[in-house]
Amino acid sequence: MAKKVLKFGGTSVGSIDRIEHAANIVKREQLNGDKIIVIVSAMAGKTNELIKHSQLISKEFDKRELDVLLSTGEQVTSALMAGALNKIGVKSKSWMNWQIPILTDGEHSNSRIINMNVEKIEKFLSDGGIAVIPGFQGISKSGDITSIGRGGSDATAVAVAKIFNTDSCEIYTDVDGVHSTDPNKIPVAKKIDKISYEEMLELSSVGAKVMQSSAVQTAMMYDIPLQVRSTFTDRKGTEIFSKESIDYSKSVTGVAYSKDDAKITLIGVEDKPGVAADIFEPLGKKQINVDMVIQNISSDGKTTDLTFTIKREDLTKTLNILKDNNRIKFKELNSNDKVSKVSIVGAGMVTAPGVTYKMFRALAKVNINILAISTSEIKISVIINEVDTLNAVKKLHTIFDLD
Ligand code: ADP
Ligand code: ASP
Ligand code: MG
Repeated sequence: MAKKVLKFGGTSVGSIDRIEHAANIVKREQLNGDKIIVIVSAMAGKTNELIKHSQLISKEFDKRELDVLLSTGEQVTSALMAGALNKIGVKSKSWMNWQIPILTDGEHSNSRIINMNVEKIEKFLSDGGIAVIPGFQGISKSGDITSIGRGGSDATAVAVAKIFNTDSCEIYTDVDGVHSTDPNKIPVAKKIDKISYEEMLELSSVGAKVMQSSAVQTAMMYDIPLQVRSTFTDRKGTEIFSKESIDYSKSVTGVAYSKDDAKITLIGVEDKPGVAADIFEPLGKKQINVDMVIQNISSDGKTTDLTFTIKREDLTKTLNILKDNNRIKFKELNSNDKVSKVSIVGAGMVTAPGVTYKMFRALAKVNINILAISTSEIKISVIINEVDTLNAVKKLHTIFDLD
């Protein structure tokens, strides 16, 4: 008898019909003789709707209260899922985060799961029941409800798989698996049968939201194999696991993009030791993450230009910090939030020379200007104008033989 985690995302529980459909998948798995823990997301669109409600009250809505509000989305689907299972003759029960409890650490809206009490749920599973747990949330040491970041039900699923020591963790979603790029935007995208944790982590951290990046990170850390598959078809999905048994016939595995970044340029910054530290230290202290940094070579030996990217939501805060920073001198401060980040990812890149120039040449051919570049061993990202995003993704998808 295997023990499994089945996680259903927002679209998969987006209506009563869909919850009933998902419940039937769970029942089918149980009939195979497996013990099952179900993790559910909120109904599609619900979390965004709740965020909007809070913003109607205040753009600075209290973070503690926001977590109380957002956790209700998954509370609703947990009860509906357990009820749907009971209706089709499957013994089931939902538990709220504080009833289990799911312990978290860290700030509101960005906590992480550190432990769970397994006792009650293990007993229920042993008695033949199916446990339903809300994704995306937990409870802090001080007893407050917390949430664990957007897309966080994936992270709950992986944490449950680890803490309950399950045999598998299946992520049911609205596409057939992980594709070479977003199949809803680029229909020629191909499903990937097997992908390494490393590649999936890079892809999800640069925009492939099919898996949440911190969930992949935890799975990689504890070597928990994941399967991403469709709630709506029976097709085989994607296996995510350690890379030993993957054959890399292509240099690039996938293309991803995000529209979460903004670019800032400081023109005419004094060129002397310590300037970069003086610029970035106050940003770091205010929890602003800097992604790409480009510093031009000084032509007159006195001043230089410095460009960097940050999360778009941090733009106003960053500009204010720079303007108020009297340790630095510059001539001009420019910013652009109409940019996107397009990335290619592939473990095959390590052994295939020329991937970088091929990417840049391909973008040049369709007249796309590169505003910033960053690379890692298995990823190359470029910042381009937002209007060029899909064109760039299509071109790269073709040029790297992924169509
Ligand atoms: P869920 O609600 O099930 O968690 P998400 O909306 O978070 O689902 O993630 C699934 C979506 O991810 C797909 O509908 C698809 O549009 C998007 N996506 C982006 N990049 C990829 C990719 N490389 N492969 C598959 N889906 C992708
Ligand atoms: N409901 C949460 C969100 O929309 C968590 C999730 O769906 O994974 O971000
Ligand atoms: Mg998701």
